[in-house]
Amino acid sequence: MNVHNSAVERLCRRNVPLAKFSTYGIGGNANYLAMPETSEELAELLQDCKRRGMPWFIFGMGSNILFPDEPGRDTVFITLKNMAEIKANEDRWYVSAGTPMSLLSLLGLVGGTDMLDFTFLLPGCLGAGIYMNAKYNAQQICDIVDVVYYIDTEDPSLQVRSISAEDCRFAYKQSIFQQHPWIVLGADLKLCVSSEEQVRTAAVLLAEWKARGSHPSSLPSFFSFFLGEIHSLAGRGIQTPQTMLDIIRYRTGKKHFDYPSCGSVFKNNYDYGVATGFLVDKLNLKGTEHGGAIISPHHGNMILNYNQATAADVIYLINLITEAVHKEFGFVPEPEIVLVEEKDKNSL
Ligand SMILES: Cc1cc2nc3c(=O)[nH]c(=O)nc-3n(C[C@H](O)[C@H](O)[C@H](O)COP(=O)(O)OP(=O)(O)OC[C@H]3O[C@@H](n4cnc5c(N)ncnc54)[C@H](O)[C@@H]3O)c2cc1C
Repeated sequence: MNVHNSAVERLCRRNVPLAKFSTYGIGGNANYLAMPETSEELAELLQDCKRRGMPWFIFGMGSNILFPDEPGRDTVFITLKNMAEIKANEDRWYVSAGTPMSLLSLLGLVGGTDMLDFTFLLPGCLGAGIYMNAKYNAQQICDIVDVVYYIDTEDPSLQVRSISAEDCRFAYKQSIFQQHPWIVLGADLKLCVSSEEQVRTAAVLLAEWKARGSHPSSLPSFFSFFLGEIHSLAGRGIQTPQTMLDIIRYRTGKKHFDYPSCGSVFKNNYDYGVATGFLVDKLNLKGTEHGGAIISPHHGNMILNYNQATAADVIYLINLITEAVHKEFGFVPEPEIVLVEEKDKNSL
């Protein structure tokens, strides 16, 4: 095989700072980084990685990931955020894995339904939203997907498979995709196509999102894009519903978009019955700093990168909280963010 013509060589950029691909703004240089635009390109890459024995790491916007300071030299980092597509399939919407979840709220708004409002300003792409079963208040991504399309990376043919949402073992921040080496390609939503106007608006929104270029994983830029879109819809007579105004107030109040972060670091322990952020508050750990990282003074479950933090700085504070919660409240809090290992190892 001619290595120079291989998919990895053709589709990967070399020596790319992962910090630019994470809302944390943290991560060393990736030797290989790919942004496939189609599922065919993705399959080609995976086949080539398998042939060459190279590990890969699949991700979306990087809003729930802590990349390592020294990424594995042979790991191929693959972001699906260029696989952004919204398609009306007869009466149903198909949305691909790289589409930002927040775009779905606008699709719903134009279609006259409030079922997607909760995705407004929820960072990240749909593929990871399904993988993590992302949520806001009582609503979760599993409430809005009908059929999920995916690749089983252990299947030599890498053919596209589908699974009904009912079989996806969705639970609080859990899905079947965390239990298998499967990559989500997209999903049919439960949302029906309501009008030609909705189809046209979906195309415009997607084009505007793509026109932002390389889609930096910057939270202020994410926030200003969606704020701009909601204002422009309001200018066309589509009023912003109260739920979305409340989301703006909540997320700006908690300073979600002011500093690089990955949102909540830990899951809530519902058996214990008190939110992790509240426990951190009770432990007086809010505002604790280490290196360039700080436990948010506004939200005990967020660790911010406020001054060129390293992954090691964030991990130090994660361990500090873990030990303090264990000692004081008797359980080990489960991380919500995904800590990407330094060593080369096949991983979703
Ligand atoms: C300010 C802020 C606020 C947040 N608020 C919330 C909130 O209210 N609710 C909430 O649920 N989350 C919240 N999050 C976390 C984040 O929005 C979600 O976890 C989101 O689903 C992550 O999407 P992503 O594309 O950035 O995933 P990434 O961070 O890129 O990846 C996360 C995980 O998903 C896996 N993955 C990614 N794409 C795929 C795929 N196509 N197939 C299989 N696996 C895949 C990755 O391997 C990784 O393990 C917040 C984050 C931030 C920064």
